[in-house]
Amino acid sequence: MKIGFIGLGNMGYPMVENLIEAGKEVHAFDVSGNYPDGAISCSSAGDVSKEKDIVITMLPSGAIVSDVANEIIPFMDEGSLFADCSTIEVDTAIRVSKIAQSNGLDFIDAPVSGGSLGAKAGTLTFMVGGEETAFHRIKPLLEIMGGKIIHCGHSGSGQVAKICNNMILGSTIIATCEAYVLAKKLNLDHEVLFEVVSQSSGYSWANNVYCPLPGIGPHSPADNDYKPGFSAALMLKDLLLSQKASETVGFNTEMGAQATDYYRKFCEEGNGDMDFSSVILPMLEKQPE
Ligand code: NAD
Repeated sequence: MKIGFIGLGNMGYPMVENLIEAGKEVHAFDVSGNYPDGAISCSSAGDVSKEKDIVITMLPSGAIVSDVANEIIPFMDEGSLFADCSTIEVDTAIRVSKIAQSNGLDFIDAPVSGGSLGAKAGTLTFMVGGEETAFHRIKPLLEIMGGKIIHCGHSGSGQVAKICNNMILGSTIIATCEAYVLAKKLNLDHEVLFEVVSQSSGYSWANNVYCPLPGIGPHSPADNDYKPGFSAALMLKDLLLSQKASETVGFNTEMGAQATDYYRKFCEEGNGDMDFSSVILPMLEKQPE
């Protein structure tokens, strides 16, 4: 099986490394020209997509995925599979899937959760939208790069699952940060709050796995000077996608909108490259002990 891979950044590069380590033949293209050992480098997106069984894209935005799709679809063999793992707009994913299918290709959207650490470890969660047959075709490859592979349904549903998940995460991390700052103001130790919340109805991944304060709970970016992890800029990107999607169906996600405003301001203040859990820092500064 010949695989084409386009977009070898923080996520795509280690994903390709894992495919190569599993013995796959990977032809790769990235505008940066940066490739891992064992990848067969190509001179363009068109070049990488010729005569491949599967082409995978891992790109920064929907606009770039659309441009790359227009470039590669004419080169792809009829019956081959186009899998986009980027996080992009739901409607862009559906539009690209229709174009791919009208050109005789299978298409799936397969955004991921787990960040660059999950990409390196091969433990990503893939949320897959598309036909059942296309899902079963790509699943063995996704299993090399991921730990959980979930078929969410029709085209675009992987993107729906991803933005809903991150809307929950963006909201719960802010609520978790506020709770820790409030507890401290009311003279409750952070360690005690963690012990209680992690075993009570306030538990969440944000608290139990990704506690936003150093020295509490499992090792997290808070224990590493808030280096990402998952950056605040990427959290803002996903929250903006959730807001765009909620507008298309006329549903006002109030908590999601507030979380979006919170991260927009946080990033405008120059914190976009920090881990998203660092939203606790201005709360601590605003409310000195
Ligand atoms: P990145 O910016 O590190 O990598 C994107 C890569 O695409 C870069 O290497 C860039 O040179 C390349 N690229 C851009 N335009 C191109 C083009 N026209 N042709 C070929 N290559 C091109 O981004 P990333 O962090 O790897 O994220 C990729 C996708 O995964 C995004 O959609 C992001 O939202 C999503 N995602 C990222 C994370 C994370 O923690 N980084 C987690 C989950 C999902």
